[in-house]
Amino acid sequence: MTDATTDIGVWGDTRIKPGQSAAVHILVSQSYAGTDIRIPVYVWRAKKPGPTVAVTAAVHGDEINGTGAIRHMIVDKPFELIAGTLVLVPVVNILGFERHSRYLPDRRDLNRSFPGTHEGSLASRLARAVFNQVIKRCDYCIDLHTAAVRRTNFPNVRADMTNDKLADFTRAFGTELIISSQGPVGSLRRSANKADCPTLILEAGEVWKIEPAVVEHAVRGISNCLIHLKMIKGKPKAPAYQIIVNKTRWVRAVNGGLLSFHISPGDIIREGEPIATNTSLLGIEQNTIASPMNGIVLGMTTMPSVAPGDPICHIARINKKALKEAEQAREAMSDQSLHQRVQDNLATSLMVSEMDEPEA
Ligand SMILES: [Zn+2]
Repeated sequence: MTDATTDIGVWGDTRIKPGQSAAVHILVSQSYAGTDIRIPVYVWRAKKPGPTVAVTAAVHGDEINGTGAIRHMIVDKPFELIAGTLVLVPVVNILGFERHSRYLPDRRDLNRSFPGTHEGSLASRLARAVFNQVIKRCDYCIDLHTAAVRRTNFPNVRADMTNDKLADFTRAFGTELIISSQGPVGSLRRSANKADCPTLILEAGEVWKIEPAVVEHAVRGISNCLIHLKMIKGKPKAPAYQIIVNKTRWVRAVNGGLLSFHISPGDIIREGEPIATNTSLLGIEQNTIASPMNGIVLGMTTMPSVAPGDPICHIARINKKALKEAEQAREAMSDQSLHQRVQDNLATSLMVSEMDEPEA
């Protein structure tokens, strides 16, 4: 496969002029039976020139909430593009997606294989094709992910906030939580940033699901970014609060047993407050797991049964000032806010209960 042209209107034999949109594809591999394997791509061009923005999903083949968000943009056109080009890739890891799997059939993680090579493994070649034909031709990229299997995430974005251009773009997305990090070596975002395509990732919801509130959250964030770049008109929708986090921590189970949770993803938690109570199969209380710090619940297990060491709750550490700001914003929030609806939506698979009052 040769390196692609820099002209965003040229996709193989297809020519897409400003003001036109078209479904095209990238040839990435061949099946065991020798048939071509292609990734579908939707290119949406405004009449006016402007930035080119890629939105990618399912780099991990089982993380399809972003696929739902991109399909909504292609089918329902929730905004009018007035400048620039959108390159929408609903499923990057098409081979993992076919098997409902995070990984490729060679058991490699595509998101550790960027920017890829022409002569390497299946993962490396697939990464290279996407990198050359999408990332290298784009000015920005938004890569949509979910939590790994048996976990869920409250929507948060992750980006290298030391890059000013990317930091502005990331703040514009408008999530309550921004995790500042470069991303692992070989990840799409780290490689894309190196190639001068500022890239953030959204982490929201669970694998194998298209969750309505998560889709709404993703599309709201993408719209906010496009408003920031003057590619669409409108007023950005601000989050309830916005905190940049440098440290996160997994809280792990101490005993084997069943958990009753006292918090849900997106909750604000103070140091010492209970996360979950662990009981034996016969209901005998073994221990209560408390938060080791002030923070916001980024992600949680969706499996109530645990063994010692199992991760149960992922907390973003915040300082006292941020804690107060978040608590005040939480107080002022309406039941109909997107924040609350996402929380209600995500918590449906978890049994969340109040702590029993200690007996007098
Ligand atoms: Zn992922």
